[in-house]
Order: sequence, then structure tokens, then C-alpha cells
Amino acid sequence: MPYFQVIVPPLDHPLTYEVPTSPNSEPKIGQRVLVPLKKKLVTGYLWAEFRHPEPGLEIKTVSQILDPRPLFSEALRPFLTWIAYYYLFPLGLVLKVALPPGLSVSSYQSIEITPLGLEVLQESRLQENEIELLQKISWKSRPLSRFSPGEKKILSYLESQGWLRQTTRLKKETARPKKERWIYPGAHFDQEHFLKKDRPLSEFLASVPCLPLKDLRVRFPLSAQRLATLSRKGLIEIREQVCLRDSFGEILSRQEGPFVLTGEQDQALTRIREGLKSGSYQTLLLHGITGSGKTEVYLRAATETLLQGRQVLIMVPEIGLIPQMEGQFRLRFGEKIALLHSGLNPGERLDQWRRIQDGSSPVVIGTRSAIFAPLASLGLIVVDEEHDPSYKQTDSLRYNARDLALVRGQQASALVILGSATPSISTLYLRRQKKIGYLGLYKRVQEQVLPEINLIDLKKFRRGRRIPLFSPPLEEAIGRNLDQGKQTLLFLNRRGFDTLILCTLCGAVIKCRNCSLTLTYHAKGSQLLCHTCGYHIPLPKDCPACHQEGLKALGMGTEKVEQELAGLFPNASIDRMDRDTVIRKRSHFEILKKLRDQKTDILIGTQMITKGHDFPQVTLVGVLCADLSLNWPDFRAGERTFQLLAQVSGRAGRGAHPGQVYIQTFNPAHYIFKYVCLHDYLGFYNQEIRFRRALKYPPFSRLINLLFQGNRETAVNQVAEKISGYLREEIRKNKWANSLELLGPVSAPIAKIKGRYRWQMLLKGEDSRILHQMACLIREAEKALIQGTGVQIILDVDPMDML
Ligand code: ADP
Ligand code: ZN
Repeated sequence: MPYFQVIVPPLDHPLTYEVPTSPNSEPKIGQRVLVPLKKKLVTGYLWAEFRHPEPGLEIKTVSQILDPRPLFSEALRPFLTWIAYYYLFPLGLVLKVALPPGLSVSSYQSIEITPLGLEVLQESRLQENEIELLQKISWKSRPLSRFSPGEKKILSYLESQGWLRQTTRLKKETARPKKERWIYPGAHFDQEHFLKKDRPLSEFLASVPCLPLKDLRVRFPLSAQRLATLSRKGLIEIREQVCLRDSFGEILSRQEGPFVLTGEQDQALTRIREGLKSGSYQTLLLHGITGSGKTEVYLRAATETLLQGRQVLIMVPEIGLIPQMEGQFRLRFGEKIALLHSGLNPGERLDQWRRIQDGSSPVVIGTRSAIFAPLASLGLIVVDEEHDPSYKQTDSLRYNARDLALVRGQQASALVILGSATPSISTLYLRRQKKIGYLGLYKRVQEQVLPEINLIDLKKFRRGRRIPLFSPPLEEAIGRNLDQGKQTLLFLNRRGFDTLILCTLCGAVIKCRNCSLTLTYHAKGSQLLCHTCGYHIPLPKDCPACHQEGLKALGMGTEKVEQELAGLFPNASIDRMDRDTVIRKRSHFEILKKLRDQKTDILIGTQMITKGHDFPQVTLVGVLCADLSLNWPDFRAGERTFQLLAQVSGRAGRGAHPGQVYIQTFNPAHYIFKYVCLHDYLGFYNQEIRFRRALKYPPFSRLINLLFQGNRETAVNQVAEKISGYLREEIRKNKWANSLELLGPVSAPIAKIKGRYRWQMLLKGEDSRILHQMACLIREAEKALIQGTGVQIILDVDPMDML
């Protein structure tokens, strides 16, 4: 019997077990097993095999192998091991994060073993057929005269359509996936008639178009026979496929693609093709302004990768951006697509995961957790909006999927594309150091101009002590836009009505009972609410501290903006999108749908409205207070603000009419605005990188944030001091003082959350090895130092914020 190292979550060291073998079940590394541990049966994962265990060890036997196939392939194991090492997180728990929730450790009983094998068979057969079909396409020319007049009519019609999909609508809210029949070019479909000669096969495949059969039937009644003939002759193929509905519950409609690439797109693709051909790891930054057609480049790159027999992973930062990406990809790759994101229920997610694992879905689209997709031979990873902080997980395993894409890409010898209109400073720095390649898309696809940006100094419009929500220029612009029947987006990154309730008599501020944060007044429900823990109380009449009638509300939130706006423009239809209005799952889409259908004149919203959306009739964007993110206590505040402003500005003027942006601020002299107004991100970068260098912040150093949390503040403080003393001693002993900086401990900017006090300490170093060694020391020493204190130490490697 062989011996195996078994990873048993949450233990951080592997255990040794013996595995019984039988002729039809060879144990394989990566398989999930049940093992006895302290009189219980627990789930573990076979991780390494060896013949001769240490002598003298009492070795137990694995009691059951749970799945017929390994859950972790050879391609994935080194990746997961790397993650455990780099983020100083127990390997067992990394494995848990990497698996779909439907397969969580406690659910093994619900997994049936045999159906999995069956499923694999059926799905992979379908897959092979498809590939064969695509490869069999014949290239010999066949004159149109060979066809009957009726057939010719159909073919010419297809030609005139360029084989583009037509709009079809489905009755909304059909619960089960609905299938429709579509026609595809068949195996003997002749490219001469429909495409220019000398186009490479890959490009033809990228443009594999299909049409709903329904539409043809309407256009050519009584043509069933002809279509059947054409199908028999191999000119078309009729297939059934699941209809894709867009985020608004409608069948995805007219898509213009595939397009003739713009010159810039074409150049980018040439570089990508070279990269893929080389078969070795490479990262390319695709820096393309908003509306420059990055998605089309991803689509073509994916086609090339599939042609090489390798697989594709596409990542977006947020679930809200999935439908758009999915729509585009499904039109080109149909059933080859799998989705991985938290909007799916555990069962659905498990299904998707299995389809990926058995090779039926070589194209995966997902949010950050998709970085763990069980793709066996990954050829391309795309990280769209790579600058987005949402790629970082902010609890449990605090990984950054954008960073991990580079690691996984390297291990898989894949091509990694980082796409953004405003790449992160670190990414641009990598490019300057020539560690990654650069592809630029400098123009919008139809050469639409970027919107004009007007900066407004709010101080100028002070009326006594009151500062208006809308400066006169912005108010006028909104009015003008309304008169012209166009749409407006207003952005304010703060929800609620008033954001601070202060007693003008005693100076007290009303704070949360559990957190060190002020409560926000929400007019709806007339209550004070904590945005972090949800604690809420009715709005008191008198000050809770001095019991006098001195309470006054300050600050502004989206709710207040909505109310004031309704007063200013009583005839406009106004909508609001923030966490308060999108509580129900679908309301997010309903709000956007109303905007798309032009039932909304003005949409007010928080960050949710800034990203990705493409609404051609939006011609005015107002940023009500740019200072909110500029004053963020973080060295990335400038970078984040620029990205946010560029994103939200990018929503204006995407259609035929040029856009206008008004940015209100108290601080118009801030250097960032000079670049924002000129859309000069590289100029901003050049300035920003100097600050980073001078202050030794990333990319000139690496950071690890140590967060101490506990219910008793003194204990938290004491543990932080103890660890700090211990680390300083280690720095001295190892003579690391020149390469390592220790900042703090200090009370965290949010000193208390949900009743837990928080302190933090920042490790900053240029040499990531030393930094890592230091973190290991903390992990070793922590048990002794925190025992009995009730304090928890969290290590956040490469933190994205330090609140
Ligand atoms: P980005 O992601 O760079 O902001 P998108 O990929 O959303 O831009 O593209 C913007 C629009 O341009 C989309 O509607 C897309 O379908 C269209 N588009 C992309 N490439 C082309 C092209 N070569 N010719 C015409 N339209 C294109
Ligand atoms: Zn709270």
C-alpha cells in the first residue's frame, strides 16, 4: 500500500496516511479522501506520495476515496502551494477557497460519484464534434451557380447579413433555459462567398456567425426544404442552443461584431498572436482608453488560443460586469463558456466547475475566484480593468487575483493580458522597466472624442455657511441636457441623507455603538444607520449626550441629492442606484434597464454607476464631490481618484453625441485635476511615480499589514506592542534595519468594527524575501505571544487599503 501526505484543513502541516489500493481504484494525487483524525472522519486531499514513511510513525489508513478523479490537477497544485507560501495561509484553507462552495468540505455526502463519470463522457463527446466540425471546414471554392435559385436567395441573404445575429425577444422571466435553433455555417460552408480570400482560418473562426432559424423562416416562408438541403450539402448547420438573456432578462440582441479591426486593434492582435505562438509566459499591458474596443481584442485572442488547443480565462472585477462580457463571448463561443462567480448558487457553480474540469468549457469567465478555475492547459489569461481594487479579497485568504494571474500565467507558460484605460501605477511601472509588453489603443473605435471636463471650485459658490450640492454651472448643464432630451449621471460616493449628526451645543457626534464610525441619517425610515455593521437607531430629538435640542445634520449623501434634484427639476424622471436601492437582487438591473430604455433622465449613484456601462444617450456626467476619495487616508488616494474620475467620465459621450463632465471639488488646485482634465493618465503617472519613489511606497517596496483585533482594547494594544518589540529585536539581530521599515503599532483608522478593537502595524521593505522571512517569524512567534489574550493577528500581504 502506498503512503500519502494528506492535507487536512484547517491544519497547516500535512499528515501521513496509508491508502488501500484495488485494481480499479488507484489513488491519485489531488483526490479527496476521508481520513480518521482524533476519532472523527474528516476530509483531506492526497498531496504527495511516498513509499517509505519515517520509521516509528503510527500510520492510519484512509477510509474512503471520495471522488473518482483528482480535484486538483498537476497544473494547479504548484499554484496553490505558492499561494499558501506567499500569503502565509494554511494550505488546507487555500484548497478550500479554491474549490467551488458546492463542494465544500462538509458536503461530501451529497456528491454522487458515478454520475460525474457519465457526464464527462457525454459532454466531452459534444465538444470533440464541435472541434472536428470547425476543423473540417472546406476551403475550396464552389460557385454559387451550383445552387437552386431558392437556395441562392437564402445564401445571398446570409451574405448581405454578413451572418449577423438578429434581434429576437423572448418572453421575459422564463424559468427554464429556453432552447432555440440557430443556423451556423456548415462543414462545407464556402468561405469564398462570404469572406475575403487570404484571411487566416483563425480570423474566419472568430467570425463564425449564426442566425436564428426563426428569422429565416419568417423571411423565406416555405423554405424548410431548402434549408434542409443546404444543411445536407454542408453549407449550413442547424444547432440547438440555450438562449442567452442579457442582464435585463431579454434575449441578447443585435451585436455588431465581429468587426473589421481598427488599425490599433490589429497591431495589438499581431503582438498577441506572436506571444501565443511562442508558447512561453509573457504579460502584455493592453492600455486602451474607454470605448477603444478592448473586448474585441480579447475575443480574437481567445479564438487564437483555442486554435492552439489551449484554454482561456477571462476575469472581470465585479459580478455586475459579467453579463456584458458573457454576452459578447457567448455569441462567439456558444456553449464553450463556463462562468464562475458568486451570483451562481452553489449547485450551479459546481456544475460550471465540473464542465471546466472535464474540458467541456475551454473558455471561463469569472470574478476574482475564477483564478482557481481547474483549467488543465491554460494558454491565455485576461484581467480586464486590471487596476480595480476589487481583485483583492479583503478577508480570509487575502489574495489579489490580478497578481495571481501573473503567477499562474508564468507557471502555465501562458500569455497574460492586463487590460485597462487607467492601469495601476504598479503595472505601468513594470512596463517602464520593460518587464511586461505594452499595447496601446489611443482612439475610440469610431473616433468619438473623449468628453470635455469642466472643473468647478465649490468654494466659489458658498452661500454664507452653506455650500450648494449643485454649483450653478452644473445645475445649468443638467437643465440644458434635460431640455435636449438627453440623459445625465450624477456620481457621489456616499449613500444616505446626511452623513454626520452633530450637537451644536455640546459638540457631541452621534456614533455607532459597535464601531468607531459616525452614524448616517437615512430619511427613508427616518433612522441613523452604521454602514459597517448595520446598527441603527431612530433619529433622536435631543442630543443623547447633553439632552438639549442642539442636533444638526451635516454632510450629504445620495438620498439628499435625489430630494434636492427633484425640487430643482420637478418634471425630470430621477432614479437612484446605491446599496439602499439595490437590496433586491434584480433591482440593480431594473434601474439600469430603465436608464437604457430612456425612462430615466437623471441617475444618481455611488461607485456602482461608474463602471463598464455603455449607454449611448448619456451625455452629461456630474461628480458632486471629488474630494471624498481624494482625502482617503491611503497612499493610493490619488491613483484611485484618477481611476474613478476617468471611469465615470468614460460613461459620457459614448454614442453619437459628445459628452460633458463636471467635476465639483473644494480643492481644484490639487495636481491630479490638471491631468484629469487633459485625460493625461501617463502625465499623472509620471508625477505620481516620483512621490512613490521618494516615500518608498509600492512599486518601490512591498508591504505587509499586520492587523490586531480583539474585544478588549488593552489586550489588543499589548499584543501589538509585544509583537512590535519582538520584531524590532529580530531586525536588530539580523541587521535588517536598512532594508526593512516597521511603522506603528497604531490604532487603525477605523479603530473599532463590530465591537472589535483594531490596531495595526505596517512592514515595508524593498527586499520581498526579507519581508517574507519576517512574516514567517510572526507566524512562528504569534502562538506564544497571543495565547489567552483573545487577540487575533491577520497578515495582509500586499494590502490594498489600510483602514
Ligand atoms: P472598451 O472595453 O475598450 O471600453 P468596448 O470593448 O466596450 O471598449 O468597445 C466599445 C464599442 O465598440 C463596443 O460597442 C464594441 O462592440 C465596438 N467595437 C469594438 N471594436 C470595433 C471595431 N473594430 N469596429 C467597430 N466597432 C467596434
Ligand atoms: Zn457599526
